[in-house]
Amino acid sequence: MANPIIQVRGLRKVYRIGREQVVALDNINLEIPAGEVCCIVGTSGSGKSTLLNQLAGLEKPTRGTVLIGGRSISALSENELARFRQKNVGFVFQSYNLMATMTAMENVAMPLIFRGVGKMRRERASRRILKEVGLLNRARHKPSQMSGGQQQRVGIARAFVAKPKIIFADEPTGNLDTRTTIEVMRMMVRLCKENNQTLILVTHDTEIAQYADRIVTIRDGNIISDVPNETPVAHLGESEADGAAQEELEDVDAIAQAVGLMKPENTEAAETAEGEMDE
Ligand code: ADP
Ligand code: MG
Repeated sequence: MANPIIQVRGLRKVYRIGREQVVALDNINLEIPAGEVCCIVGTSGSGKSTLLNQLAGLEKPTRGTVLIGGRSISALSENELARFRQKNVGFVFQSYNLMATMTAMENVAMPLIFRGVGKMRRERASRRILKEVGLLNRARHKPSQMSGGQQQRVGIARAFVAKPKIIFADEPTGNLDTRTTIEVMRMMVRLCKENNQTLILVTHDTEIAQYADRIVTIRDGNIISDVPNETPVAHLGESEADGAAQEELEDVDAIAQAVGLMKPENTEAAETAEGEMDE
């Protein structure tokens, strides 16, 4: 494969809780070329979120490597990883992860603050991307004053505002109705294609997978199928958004961690301790 942006080799992730062992990823090998919209599909518990967290360097693998742009991310320290994510990665979540006390505009501008971009340029870039997602007229609204679909469009604007090379989306339409799902999927694919960004999308929904250039299916932590999608759903047009409720998030640090802008709290060091003992 010419110039893969992501290379995964022999990736394995075992969680340990007390004496219990969960093999979340068994042996994953995968190459993703720059500019591809790749969908990882699988049922609940198949290891999708674990894989995404490994690709983004949010968790350390038990074994194997993840190379991004040819560079092994496991060689990076937590601080280097946080900087790497600030520079190269955007995230979109099922639960939006917006700051409840901030306006749409302020939420969108967050990654630019972490990149040290000045106020004027931040506002210009945020305005531009809010316009792209059709929400310029909601720039001063708080998340609670917007529908679920609108909130997810703010989430998308935040993920794209700094033009990261890679966007990770974990069940981005999981809380949305059918019409809003179509709108959100089209929007993400369109933005990626416009700027030759790579989108790794995770979902349990095989219909969502039809938007991707390639569909990778995982089961029990292994890839069971990896096929190109010859006829990805067109990514044109826009429509109205619809509603869904959201848990209010108030803590800037928690959000910044959740969206990959800060290094995560060292919570699961115990489970992810090196290696597996009894194999
Ligand atoms: P999916 O996103 O496909 O629903 P996950 O990647 O979240 O699946 O989980 C895969 C498996 O790993 C599941 O059996 C889940 O219970 C387990 N798992 C995920 N995260 C953890 C964790 N932090 N600690 C222990 N087990 C986990
Ligand atoms: Mg998941």
